[in-house]
Amino acid sequence: MTAFWTSADWDEHERVELVHDRASGLTAIIALHSTHLGPGAGGTRFWHYADPAAAMKDALRLSRGMSYKNAMAGLPMGGGKAVVLLDQDRTRTPAMLAAFGDAIEAFGGRYVTAEDVGASEADMVAIAARTAHVCGLPASEGSAGGDPGPFTARGIYLGIKAAVAHRLGRDSVEGVHVAVQGCGSVGGGVARLLAAEGARLTLADIDAARAEALAAELGATAVDASAIMEVPCDVFSPNALGAILDAQSVARLACSIVAGGANNQIATSADGVALAKRGILYAPDYVINAGGIINVSLEYLARQKGVPGDLAEVERMIGGIPDRLLAVWRECEATRLGADRVADRMAQVLIGRG
Ligand code: NAD
Repeated sequence: MTAFWTSADWDEHERVELVHDRASGLTAIIALHSTHLGPGAGGTRFWHYADPAAAMKDALRLSRGMSYKNAMAGLPMGGGKAVVLLDQDRTRTPAMLAAFGDAIEAFGGRYVTAEDVGASEADMVAIAARTAHVCGLPASEGSAGGDPGPFTARGIYLGIKAAVAHRLGRDSVEGVHVAVQGCGSVGGGVARLLAAEGARLTLADIDAARAEALAAELGATAVDASAIMEVPCDVFSPNALGAILDAQSVARLACSIVAGGANNQIATSADGVALAKRGILYAPDYVINAGGIINVSLEYLARQKGVPGDLAEVERMIGGIPDRLLAVWRECEATRLGADRVADRMAQVLIGRG
């Protein structure tokens, strides 16, 4: 354990709890990075990890990322994240979900959970039977909450438009060529919004049929997933996996803007420097992809007051994403630092650690 106290990933977490419930077989980690701005909000990842150290690393890095994301979105929420360590078959039982709900309840509202990779709305409903500190629950018509994907996609679309205006001097994406990696909930939503405004799209997904179907729907071109990062285009929009911007891929990019929703896109800080050196405008992932957490956080905060989440307020806050990005890019111009580094510094000031 000593290694965690001295590792960069530790980053002064307020509290990290290792949870084991013998009766249900639940093993989990709940990491609370900062409650400076409010309760630490961030989803729960249900995953099979090769070893517990990998799970701890994931929890710590993701919870710090949530502190930064929530702060930059202007939310009154801190940052936290949980991981549930599953077996190879990814078995989860109602008893495990109940025990996990009890573990969240024991945080007394300082940690609020939501869906993340491997989790479903049904899991959140099961956890909500044991604690009120859950969001991403089914929303009633016209109020905030529910599936965060479309809200995340809207924020990314607005962020791409801001990048196109800032870098290319164009006030519309009509005719702008965007290469979209990943055609799932977020990437598919982004592609549809861009297509509606006349963007030229190249799409890819490891599920090739998915990319081809979306391309047929939108009049776009589908390419093999291995080729998407080298497509000559104006904007490369990563909406699949993290850590895709590494030394090899950054050298091969043929775009002037990188703006998409995948979490933790930059593999190492050296890759952020390389991206900036190549003169590519980068929209920091946790700034541009905050639409979903804005939606579910406002759902949670409203439920605490016994009222429905205000959808107009969700839209207003998502509409603030372009201004946050512009603030980052202006600071990059003033400091000559990469956008990832500048965003981290801005977020650290907001959470009282500047
Ligand atoms: P999703 O599972 O709906 O879609 C992901 C898609 O990416 C799938 O179609 C998958 O086949 C494809 N994919 C996987 N590996 C690929 C590869 N190497 N090349 C091309 N395509 C590949 O997930 P999502 O909800 O759309 O999330 C996408 C990304 O956005 C993730 O990194 C997620 O962490 C991040 N994110 C999502 C949200 C949200 O609200 N859903 C919010 C913030 C960040």
